[in-house]
Amino acid sequence: MTAASGLPPAPPGLSVPVIDSHAHLDLAAAHGLDPVAALDAAEAVNVVGVVQIGTDLISSRMGADLARSDPRARAAVALHPNEAPALAVREGRAALTSAWAEIARLARQPEVSAIGETGLDYFRTPPEGRAVQEESFRVHIGIAREVGKPVIVHDRDAHADVLRVLDEEQAECVIIHCFSGDAAMARALAERGWYASFAGNITFRSADDLRDALRIVPGNLLLVETDAPFLTPTPHRGRPNSPYLLGHTITAMAEIRQDDVEALAEGTYRNAETVFGAWAGSGR
Ligand SMILES: [Zn+2]
Ligand SMILES: [Zn+2]
Repeated sequence: MTAASGLPPAPPGLSVPVIDSHAHLDLAAAHGLDPVAALDAAEAVNVVGVVQIGTDLISSRMGADLARSDPRARAAVALHPNEAPALAVREGRAALTSAWAEIARLARQPEVSAIGETGLDYFRTPPEGRAVQEESFRVHIGIAREVGKPVIVHDRDAHADVLRVLDEEQAECVIIHCFSGDAAMARALAERGWYASFAGNITFRSADDLRDALRIVPGNLLLVETDAPFLTPTPHRGRPNSPYLLGHTITAMAEIRQDDVEALAEGTYRNAETVFGAWAGSGR
């Protein structure tokens, strides 16, 4: 966490433990922290648990291995909505279907707590890739249903279609990660009993719609994440993100909801354990 690594300084530790519900620790090493060092830095400021998110087979396997060896980590496995169509173009349809089968196999392992991140991304995937993207989303929802685990959904510029596909596939436990919708979207999730996970972009000056949405999410459906190494919260925007920076986002969320920081942190901790299961080694 030196200036040389480009990583920002740690904020003061939170007085109650919190869980980062979405991070890409496989990308942490590029900024000088291997996954275990990132977990150590997080734990030092009371971010006691991290969900390592899968985006391809390598990061999904890595997450399962990490969760097996380190009780602070839990794993989610999936092909990212931008990766699925890219894989089909790069290596062909057979490679995509065998990757889905491998995700389904990993999904059954006990150290894997969720299926994700899957979903729809109309920002990065061009129109010709969207049929495969939606098909992959449906396959992942099916896997989640089959293994009885939550599905972590990436939604970029695709709110209406994300809801449509989730409804059509009768998804059960859903987490919309890096929630980027408005108040209407927040209401649509709440009606279905689905979770909204907020990231560092809630601290950005332009995010008024997002702050309006955050105010109406029921406390029992609220989660918090870094999406590290992306979406670094103010005041470190533009520098790499890491789970130890989660406190900036929690503090901002409490201010927006006019809630107590500790109460909000405790609520999101409880929700994370409801969704992902009890955190071994968290001392609770
Ligand atoms: Zn995402
Ligand atoms: Zn992500």
